[in-house]
Amino acid sequence: MTANLLEFDLEGLAVFCEALGEKRFRATQLFRWIHQRGASDFGQMSDLAKSLRDKLTTSAHIRALPVLSEHISADGTIKWLFDVGDGNAVESVFIPEDDRGTLCVSSQAGCAVGCRFCSTGHQGFSRNLSTAEIVAQLWFAEHFLRKHLQTQDRVISNVVMMGMGEPLQNYSALIPALRVMLNDHGYGLSRRRVTVSTSGVVPMIDRLAQDCPVALAVSLHAPTDDLRDPLVPLNRKYPIDELLQSCVRYLEHAPRDFITFEYCMLDGVNDQPAHAQSLIELVQAHARQGLRCKFNLIPFNPFPASGLLRSAPAKVQSFAKMLLEAGIVTTIRKTRGDDIDAACGQLAGDVKDRTRVQERIAQQRSGSVIPIAPVSH
Ligand code: SAH
Ligand code: SF4
Repeated sequence: MTANLLEFDLEGLAVFCEALGEKRFRATQLFRWIHQRGASDFGQMSDLAKSLRDKLTTSAHIRALPVLSEHISADGTIKWLFDVGDGNAVESVFIPEDDRGTLCVSSQAGCAVGCRFCSTGHQGFSRNLSTAEIVAQLWFAEHFLRKHLQTQDRVISNVVMMGMGEPLQNYSALIPALRVMLNDHGYGLSRRRVTVSTSGVVPMIDRLAQDCPVALAVSLHAPTDDLRDPLVPLNRKYPIDELLQSCVRYLEHAPRDFITFEYCMLDGVNDQPAHAQSLIELVQAHARQGLRCKFNLIPFNPFPASGLLRSAPAKVQSFAKMLLEAGIVTTIRKTRGDDIDAACGQLAGDVKDRTRVQERIAQQRSGSVIPIAPVSH
């Protein structure tokens, strides 16, 4: 079996080149061809010696994941479903905005954390993605979009590890993937524009601070352990106080001077004024120990098996107002792509209705143009 070069960060690729009897710096040229130019054919790599290209052809390949379907939302959001074998599929979502293009990337097929309000969690855990499978989502999306938009410029300016899976439970594959995103010879994204979102794997938050500090989002969803335990079962292992202490430690290394807390608004569960009040007290208590944070309220995106409902917009507004009046920066996440089940928590990697989906894609594609424009940075 030959190696998929999407598996390697630049250092890994240098080691691979050395093993082929080549100089390490060849890896930089190769890395640029792969990630900056989107090349998958060694024959294209005109500044590499023919002998190296021949060696690569017999020992390596550059391959994206097979695309099972592509959905395009009325708001320009695009969701791809990728085949990762054995009946498993993962999803990536591209979210175009005026000033940026964000790709939401998956880290696992399924998820073992099992949050009550998350459709990936309900599906259970299948397996970790490899580094190549994580990087392939970005490689494919970036070069697909460039081709589609007929631009040489970068289209994806931000990556959020907020797709399927708990990234910090797939740590060894995640770190090289982040390094590919950050490397100037790769995607050259700044650390502030790459976000890892976690349900709170405390020891791995500490390791991330050392190994590859990027922007951190923490899925909090509740102000007390009693409420968070049943919503985010991992809370029983790493309760709120420990989690917030790890956030304070993370801030010493973080590229941003705040942690983003995600809070999914569930009707009647965690959206009452009393919850906002206890959240304010929690944040203020930890602020004295150095916690700096922002809140992002996410209106719950319903899916049939959850048995939960989205909070009314007025409830979300008044919850946000209470936090804001207490001096806590708070935003309400705009729901994007919900008409194609691409919104937060709706990613289930569903391959059951593959035929129907592909028919719909064919219809959407025929004669239609993806309603997005290149973003300027
Ligand atoms: N496992 C990581 C990252 C993936 S989930 C984590 O939990 O942080 C990305 C975000 O979507 C998390 O904040 C998660 O809590 C939120 N989310 C999950 N299901 C949701 C739903 N049904 N509606 C709205 N947000 C949801
Ligand atoms: Fe896993 Fe995150 Fe979904 Fe929880 S919210 S089940 S951690 S993907």
